[in-house]
Amino acid sequence: MLDVTGLTKTYATGDKALSDVSFSLPEGQVVGLIGPSGAGKSTLIRCINRLVEPTSGTVRLNGQELTRLGARDLRRARRRIGMIFQEYALVERLTVMENVLSGRLGYVPFWRSFTRRFPGPDIARAFQLLDRVGLSAHVDKRADALSGGQRQRVGIARALEQEPELLLVDEPTASLDPRTSRQIMRLLTEVCRENRLPAIVNIHDVVLAQQFTDRIIGLRAGRMVFDGRPEQLTQSVLTEIYGEEDWNAMKKGAAEQDEAEAEALDAARRLAAEA
Ligand code: ADP
Repeated sequence: MLDVTGLTKTYATGDKALSDVSFSLPEGQVVGLIGPSGAGKSTLIRCINRLVEPTSGTVRLNGQELTRLGARDLRRARRRIGMIFQEYALVERLTVMENVLSGRLGYVPFWRSFTRRFPGPDIARAFQLLDRVGLSAHVDKRADALSGGQRQRVGIARALEQEPELLLVDEPTASLDPRTSRQIMRLLTEVCRENRLPAIVNIHDVVLAQQFTDRIIGLRAGRMVFDGRPEQLTQSVLTEIYGEEDWNAMKKGAAEQDEAEAEALDAARRLAAEA
């Protein structure tokens, strides 16, 4: 369970990025965080694990107040929070397996990680996770030989290898095509349910958020302007979150993307029929 209360962040520049944000996340719930650029989504995600120091407010993870921890305890607490990033953040020259095992680095003594000797159970778990995310056949491939979707699957497996109590996910599909984006969102939400993991997913794509998350939080100018079920996200709420102009532009963008995808599918079918 994650409890965020009165979270506020004013940057040194005077930018008020978050104002009095409060919510609780039960086990296994996946929240989509939406809002226009500059609304404070990244700041919120980063304040939760204190990559950005909140100005005020509290964050509690399973009873422990993260916002009060000193440096050492914070490092320990961060091991319990898995992060998945847009840019995959893999080590290019390492294999898929090594990248997943790097999720254990916070737990493995330095000398063992230095020689890349991980305990047997960690390796067994990594194999299991790679199987779960559909990468059993690519265990020994180098990260730089993978497609975008495969890289994101490694990112998911690595975060789970950490045995986290919370997942923070920043724009997981921003660099992926629409079909792969849906596969990745489906996988993410499934593994969260299976592991009873709460997750916050900063997601640019409202349609994807609606399709795959259990709950949506909408931010506008640092304030929570919506907190509800995906089906409660009406046109008027979306206009409130994004503003009239931005929301119309986003809708248009989404329709164009769908059209392009349909065309690509058609072309692929034609090619397959000809072959
Ligand atoms: P989002 O992720 O929704 O695009 P951000 O959290 O990145 O929004 O930004 C929220 C606000 O905080 C914006 O006004 C942005 O300019 C400001 N901001 C973000 N990061 C910094 C920073 N490091 N220093 C100063 N202002 C920042």
